[in-house]
Amino acid sequence: MAVREIILYATHQDALRKKSKAVPFINQKVRQLIRDLKDTLAASSDGIGLAAPQINIHKRVVIACPGAEIDGEWQAGPPVILVNPEIIEASGERRDFDGCLSFPGLYGETARPHHLRVTGLDETGEAFDRVYEGFNAVVIHHEIDHLNGVLFIDRVENLKDLYTLRENERGEIERVPVTVNMP
Ligand SMILES: [Zn+2]
Repeated sequence: MAVREIILYATHQDALRKKSKAVPFINQKVRQLIRDLKDTLAASSDGIGLAAPQINIHKRVVIACPGAEIDGEWQAGPPVILVNPEIIEASGERRDFDGCLSFPGLYGETARPHHLRVTGLDETGEAFDRVYEGFNAVVIHHEIDHLNGVLFIDRVENLKDLYTLRENERGEIERVPVTVNMP
């Protein structure tokens, strides 16, 4: 996808741009939504988070896989559900890797907080108050953005920070900058 196409795609994705509504309580419909989010994420090969508007349901529910640094590399953990997540603290903004299941194969560098404190409800309706640090904060911040119609490409400041990945002849993964195709 060229940048122009990405922008056209993104601006025409009403489903991704619409703001989602808070869930008043966990009823049968919300439980079904949670199951659908889990199934959709599990069916993706490299997804680490998904928000309800990405499957065209405009409720404030996200799934994400906060993980841990293992031998200096971040690895996703088991999925958690956040209902009505609200950011009550955000700090430590710096640039990090970003990508989205709604933009397969496209990656970028965005500036996001690396410390987040989030309140909300878990999938049983129990209130939580959690702190996410490092890349976990990035993942959660990305998903909460979706509930407000904000996409990661909105946070990419420079075109050169947007790229696809390919394997070169030495078998290494390298970045391929996205080029602009003018009409
Ligand atoms: Zn996304």
